[in-house]
Amino acid sequence: MKDKVLDLAFEAMGNAYAPYSNYHVGSCVLCKDGTTFLGANVENASYGATNCGERSAIFAAYSHGYRKKDIEMIAIVSDGNTLAAPCGVCRQVLNELLDKDTPIILSNKKEYKETTISELLPMSFSGEDLQ
Ligand SMILES: [Zn+2]
Repeated sequence: MKDKVLDLAFEAMGNAYAPYSNYHVGSCVLCKDGTTFLGANVENASYGATNCGERSAIFAAYSHGYRKKDIEMIAIVSDGNTLAAPCGVCRQVLNELLDKDTPIILSNKKEYKETTISELLPMSFSGEDLQ
């Protein structure tokens, strides 16, 4: 199943709109019912309006009514020389929208790593802090 999710993420990477960075990211969210949601980075000349690939994919899943309990894993891939470690904004989003132990698979075809949001964002700020 991980191979399928990675293949779909690399396929999604082909849809990246990255005329400024030329750094292409694809992502695939696999839900427990087998449904997949793809995302790619979509840049903008006003850089702050850019959306990362993994946020595109997880927002698509949530937009279709899926929630963290429904998500089996997420793959995030790039064509960079290093693994596509999520940026700080994405870590904050994934921290809220994924269970703490949901597998996050990173790959650039040369390297592969499986991690979790707990590992990527220790001592995180969350809604629990607002209680
Ligand atoms: Zn990001």
